Amino acid sequence: MTSLRKCALLILCLVALSGSAWAQPDREVLYQTSTLDALMVGVYDGPVSFQQLGQHGDFGLGTVNALDGEMLALEGHFYQITADGVVHEIDAAAHTPFACVTFFDRDRSASIGAQNSLAELSAQLDLLLPTKNTFYAIRIDGEFPYLKCRSVPRQQRPYPGLAAAVAEQSVFEWRDLRGTIVGFRCPAYVKGVNVAGYHFHFIDATRTRGGHLLDCQVRQAEVALDLTRELRLVLPESEDFDRAPLDEAPGEEPTPAE
Ligand SMILES: [Zn+2]
Repeated sequence: MTSLRKCALLILCLVALSGSAWAQPDREVLYQTSTLDALMVGVYDGPVSFQQLGQHGDFGLGTVNALDGEMLALEGHFYQITADGVVHEIDAAAHTPFACVTFFDRDRSASIGAQNSLAELSAQLDLLLPTKNTFYAIRIDGEFPYLKCRSVPRQQRPYPGLAAAVAEQSVFEWRDLRGTIVGFRCPAYVKGVNVAGYHFHFIDATRTRGGHLLDCQVRQAEVALDLTRELRLVLPESEDFDRAPLDEAPGEEPTPAE
């Protein structure tokens, strides 16, 4: 190949690369569909498919239409943990009423030692945050001597509120698992829109056990933080959402099930 041709080819490649970079989604955005309050009052069906959700992130959590269990996204895989404790890979055609995702980038990381509870882990994480006023996606890979997770059963219309659905939750306890905690820390001012503070889901290394994290002990773990300053809140285009009594929504709930 002549040097002129090589040069032309290089320019073409650069144009193609910049074109594809241009088409990349914004990785620094926390993308959320619907609100915590809408879920609280029983808006359990949404119009967003997992195929669509995957265009906005490869990491996150939420639930599946009809409040059918807990959802966790890790490395581009979307998992559903149903109330019977089974982990399923979610079909791209399935839909979500509430989810929060981002493209995970490791902005900060740290190794942590033994923690005796989720409260202790949360306090340890607080020390790693440069500020409490922004959003964080948080990934924790480690060895867990103890884990307590839950999932919620699929609901039937007319849907009850989230407090009633959570009253039927299944609770799972395990000893000595390796796995990954996936979640977010949102600032206190988002109450009603999302969970204020930490919200975690867990999946084990074999991708066969998991759920919404209620408690845990840590032997040792690697923590990675992805700080984001942009929240993109997309409200569902649905009659359920439009008619939901959000004026009367409770604002927060101590143990949200999503
Ligand atoms: Zn949850």
